Amino acid sequence: MKHRVIIIGAGAGGLSMAIILAKCGFSVRVIEKNRFPGGMMRSYIRKGITCHTGIHYLGALAKGQILRRFFDWLGITADISLERMGKKGIIDRYIFNDFLFDLPEGADAYESNLRSVFPREQKQIDGIMAMLKPAVEKISSPDFLFAEHRYAASPEDFRPVGEILDELGCSPGLKAVLSVPSCWIGVPPDQCPAFYHNTALASYLLSSWRLKENMQMADVFANRLISLGGELICGDGAAAILAENREVKGLRLLSGRELAAPLLIGAVHPKVILSMLPAKEVRPLYRKRISRLKDTHSIFALHATVDASRHDEIPYNIFKMDSCEKGEISDLKYYQLRKSSVPDKLLFSILTSGRPEHWQKWEKTQSGRRGKDYTEAKEKMAKQLIAESESILGPLYDCRLLDTYTPLSIRDRVSSPGGAAYGIMRSCDQLLAASMLNRTAVKGLFLAGQNVMAPGILGTVMGSFHTAGYIMGAERFRKEIAEDL
Ligand SMILES: Cc1cc2nc3c(=O)[nH]c(=O)nc-3n(C[C@H](O)[C@H](O)[C@H](O)COP(=O)(O)OP(=O)(O)OC[C@H]3O[C@@H](n4cnc5c(N)ncnc54)[C@H](O)[C@@H]3O)c2cc1C
Repeated sequence: MKHRVIIIGAGAGGLSMAIILAKCGFSVRVIEKNRFPGGMMRSYIRKGITCHTGIHYLGALAKGQILRRFFDWLGITADISLERMGKKGIIDRYIFNDFLFDLPEGADAYESNLRSVFPREQKQIDGIMAMLKPAVEKISSPDFLFAEHRYAASPEDFRPVGEILDELGCSPGLKAVLSVPSCWIGVPPDQCPAFYHNTALASYLLSSWRLKENMQMADVFANRLISLGGELICGDGAAAILAENREVKGLRLLSGRELAAPLLIGAVHPKVILSMLPAKEVRPLYRKRISRLKDTHSIFALHATVDASRHDEIPYNIFKMDSCEKGEISDLKYYQLRKSSVPDKLLFSILTSGRPEHWQKWEKTQSGRRGKDYTEAKEKMAKQLIAESESILGPLYDCRLLDTYTPLSIRDRVSSPGGAAYGIMRSCDQLLAASMLNRTAVKGLFLAGQNVMAPGILGTVMGSFHTAGYIMGAERFRKEIAEDL
């Protein structure tokens, strides 16, 4: 008998969850509030140019690597056009005020770059590599997904990476280099559990990839779901979860339509799910736990074009750190200059922290109705960022702004509280509160998406496999999924 399941949210989390369950014989329906599926994974088009939102690069996608195995199992690999980064020895270039560091492909190459940039810190680098190499090994195989303690195995894994680096006696420069990955995923190093930092860094060291210029990964996920017989309802969001005696009965949509289902998966922020549950169906402790969770920072981003005849594509990412006193990074700018879907233009993108205080004035306004002064404020910030970037990249010829988005845009587009780019902050101080979020206190209600395990496409898809394990039970999960992964 087919199990009926409804999934709220058609982002990378909801769609991968839906594909997994559809492949395992469930009758799946995905509900998406926006007109098109994809959430943050969805790219949009301005003046004929595809602008990526929540995918700038992906790690661990070479044959046999972890994200590739997930994509192979989902049956989407062949439809995703990618290009491998790092061909010229650089995936990321970190620019600090007084030195440069290039992150290459491979843990050995990374170690050798660390040793040549920080020649006086060989002992510290021994310590760093002793912590990093097992993480690279671990995520090279999906076995860790099914292990009891998953990616964290020793007490050391739960300590803040910043504390470990201080204990090793790293200089501020070396600490700052190691701090970039954790800042990028929204957790300051002094709060970032070592296993979390190491796994994120390891995934990019294994291999890093960019989407091809025109790639719309959201449609690949959605089409795969439909080819498996899944249903996707867009443009009508979930308004309320129907539950009785702490058991799920179905869902009411914004249009008023009611859908019955014994199994419901919320692939949106847990605080959004909480707000949809009838008050009496939620245990006070669960409410307290979810509503108190801190979220990650948001992002301000811009896309612009430059003249392709006067610029070369930069085949790696650039991270510019504002300052790194005592090895702590206060803010970073991310630059990408790459081929676009229009031959005579390159696409120039900048991402930086969202500075919520900057957009507070428009907090209560709705997308598309924020007024002229909001547009002017965005353009002013974009101009400043572009001018600042020229001090690093040199003059940008015929630079024309295509689009900007702010924390408010992210908040409204995907209902992420405060526009949090990476959802719940997986910091040491809320490790316990943020763990095991796949399950809830309501029977038949599960969670998926970036909030249940880790953010990024890898973390989000991994979270879907996990939730599937809870729904299907260990034995069935092993037979129908794990043995083929
Ligand atoms: C600017 C930015 C850059 C990023 N860069 C990268 C990167 O380079 N590499 C990487 O791996 N990751 C990156 N990420 C992170 C990555 O995009 C996310 O981790 C991932 O897309 C999250 O997927 P999700 O399904 O959990 O959430 P979402 O994409 O937020 O999906 C949730 C979906 O639920 C829908 N929804 C919300 N409320 C309702 C409702 N009531 N009813 C119905 N539907 C609803 C939303 O509209 C949305 O479609 C980036 C994120 C941002 C913001």
